[in-house]
Amino acid sequence: MKTDVQVAVIGGGIVGVSVLYWLAKLGWTDTVLLERRELTSGSTWHAAGNTTYFGPYPKMTALFAGSIRTYLQAEQETGQSVGFHETGSLRLAATARELELFHVYAPRYEALNIPFYIRSPDEVATLHPFVDTTANFGAAHTPTDGHVDPTGATNALAQAAKQHGASIKRHCPVSAISQASGKWVLETPSGTVTARNVVVATSFWAPEMLAPLGLNLPVFPTQHHEIITESLPEIAALDKELPAIRDSWVSCNVRQERDGLLIGIYEKEPEFWALDGIPPDFKEDLLPPNLDPLMPHLERLMERMPLFAEAGIKVANNGPMCFTPDGLPLIGPVPEMDGLWLATGFNVGIGTGGGSAEILAKWMTSGQPPKGLDAIHADRFGNDLSKDAALAAIRDVYAHGYQLPDHI
Ligand SMILES: Cc1cc2nc3c(=O)[nH]c(=O)nc-3n(C[C@H](O)[C@H](O)[C@H](O)COP(=O)(O)OP(=O)(O)OC[C@H]3O[C@@H](n4cnc5c(N)ncnc54)[C@H](O)[C@@H]3O)c2cc1C
Repeated sequence: MKTDVQVAVIGGGIVGVSVLYWLAKLGWTDTVLLERRELTSGSTWHAAGNTTYFGPYPKMTALFAGSIRTYLQAEQETGQSVGFHETGSLRLAATARELELFHVYAPRYEALNIPFYIRSPDEVATLHPFVDTTANFGAAHTPTDGHVDPTGATNALAQAAKQHGASIKRHCPVSAISQASGKWVLETPSGTVTARNVVVATSFWAPEMLAPLGLNLPVFPTQHHEIITESLPEIAALDKELPAIRDSWVSCNVRQERDGLLIGIYEKEPEFWALDGIPPDFKEDLLPPNLDPLMPHLERLMERMPLFAEAGIKVANNGPMCFTPDGLPLIGPVPEMDGLWLATGFNVGIGTGGGSAEILAKWMTSGQPPKGLDAIHADRFGNDLSKDAALAAIRDVYAHGYQLPDHI
């Protein structure tokens, strides 16, 4: 194991590995990534892998597009598949106002060079024959997004980073961080690692890790379910994969998974997990499913997509998912702690991890912060937000995950 490096990245989920990869691409290869267990062993292994280009904020859309670009680049460099399915997505307009907002967004996509179409209800029915279009106003269609295999993508990035000269040490939990002689000192069971820069990419483990340095990170895990149905003959009979659907009325996303459906719900009353500390023996674990709070949403989905009413549920996965009070990640340097960088707080880390890592690596290697991305800066919450205020904000942002901001 390298014991004195320019950069140590802590955490081997999609985000940490993407950072290691981008640093190496930009020529910083005196690096080591330290992972507590196996790569992907936090939230990454059980994520659905959805990545959409739809959204009200072009800078964030660019992070999604940059992520797919990053994963495909790693695939090309290594031959390791990232499992990209370019199904496209339909963001249904549940209200006339949503449709109006889609028209406002459309020119922004032209500027990003990302295809974006507004589809009528009839066109939606052609693109997705199982959506009941009688009660919606059409959809925004982003035909070039889709989903990836999160584990495949992480492994491809890891392999590509190593090809460029970076190194990875698994089964190497960092138990303490301190500063000495202008360097960061990381304690691990395999010995001490010193580093000029440290990137903390440990998701909901980050607050506990950094509390001894006096940092108060408003990062907490919610529980989040994904439901996978049994195979449906109607889907098995298709000759083309269905586009993903996102819908503010149901507050869910739905995509095809093999010959069934995969549904992610953002329920009105989200549950947190491990608010008193992440259990030290937490491994690649899922949490017990709790379907009751999801039922009102699933009932709406049966109306929106009657085929779902015929489907048996094969599995309901409940996993911990990291959240910040505004739902956006914390990226960048920690003020007054020279060389300490954050890449944490991601709740759509597959969708935005690769693109965010590119931004962070460029920031680190050039010393220049990105333009127009204050919304994701690591220091935007200060250090004094109370736990209660953070949890209340997260509850709100989670429950309204599919509501569009009304300002333009
Ligand atoms: C059911 C479900 C479905 C989801 N679906 C999607 C989706 O479709 N699209 C999407 O974009 N996102 C999705 N997500 C969210 C996504 O999983 C996360 O945003 C993403 O995986 C976060 O990646 P990460 O690298 O930040 O964190 P993680 O994957 O959690 O990685 C953090 C890593 O840090 C390591 N670590 C922790 N402490 C230490 C230490 N002391 N020393 C060394 N290593 C340490 C952990 O072992 C872990 O491997 C979903 C989440 C859930 C729960």
